[in-house]
Amino acid sequence: MVRLLCLAICLTLALAEYRRYDGYQVLKLDVKNDRDLEIVGKLENDIELDFWKYPSDLMVPPGKMDGITSYLNNNGIMYNVMMENVQDVLDANAPAQAPGINVIDQWIKDMATAYPLIADVVYIGESYELRPMRALKLGVNADASAIWFEGGLHAREWIAPVTVMYIAEQLAKEYDTDLTFLNTFEFYFLPTINPDGYAFTWTDVSASSSTDPCSQEYRGDFPESEVEIAKTTDFITLASASQRFTMFIDFHSYGLMWMCPWAYTTELPPDYDDQCNCAEAGAMAIEAYSGTQYLYGNHLKLVSGAAYDWAYGGPVNIKYSYAIELPDRENGFLVPAEDIIPIGEETYRGVKASINCIVNTEPYVP
Ligand SMILES: [Zn+2]
Repeated sequence: MVRLLCLAICLTLALAEYRRYDGYQVLKLDVKNDRDLEIVGKLENDIELDFWKYPSDLMVPPGKMDGITSYLNNNGIMYNVMMENVQDVLDANAPAQAPGINVIDQWIKDMATAYPLIADVVYIGESYELRPMRALKLGVNADASAIWFEGGLHAREWIAPVTVMYIAEQLAKEYDTDLTFLNTFEFYFLPTINPDGYAFTWTDVSASSSTDPCSQEYRGDFPESEVEIAKTTDFITLASASQRFTMFIDFHSYGLMWMCPWAYTTELPPDYDDQCNCAEAGAMAIEAYSGTQYLYGNHLKLVSGAAYDWAYGGPVNIKYSYAIELPDRENGFLVPAEDIIPIGEETYRGVKASINCIVNTEPYVP
């Protein structure tokens, strides 16, 4: 399997005409107040600049560096250099650690073959560029409540799909020793909800999160993302006719946040206490395991059109709907290969703790 993985990656690398980022730097800006935010916010209009994380982490091309640093200095915005040369980090890390889109699709089929008693391949539909969208389903009890995990909405957030895959593999492996979760829930895993965007990042690592029109980083109209999201929401809505959905997590990177509804407003939803309680349970379990500290709560990031707002507020009304911004380990989106398993492991602990919290909170589960 490892050999197969390498083969697919090397092949993709050889075929891809890679955009380079020589001399690009990522600055970490110290935005302390509304005045700073207003000054930094103006940089959003410059399409050559790229906020990796708004408003703090900003990628600047070499030709713009002098202008940007004087702008920041003149306006009293402190900053330091988070990444000296993006290309160096790319050469050292990405995308060699990230499985290609075909590898992910094959992984779903391989999981179903490896765990025939608990795993099924679920077909969601086709992407705009006609890539098959498949999810992995794990479960043994058709009456069980459903849990939905997805990643890869923002294509360059590579750690999200592999973390979704890691959680699925751990759950499948643990089934031999611990029946609790898979007897109580049916799990759906969609590692890449945006397969075309994901494939595209193989030629341009900074392909931005341009497929999310509501993102701060949105750079244009990419209608294909709408097709995938519509197919996914249709699938969940249809499935929910015969199955209750209890939990929904949309995985992103990076930012160390476990976000509860709502994203679009500071108003608290009626289920906020339960929702946030089980976000806290997840965050605390992660901290206890690895020391990684997450923020949790609602409206940590101003977003309209967040998937978890749809999951909770839309027709399916999934009570425990979240988005998680995974860690970056100081490398922004370019998470080094050796961090994949530690991030997967701690996230898995957090997710399990959060599910246990749901079981303890809800009278109808199991
Ligand atoms: Zn994202």
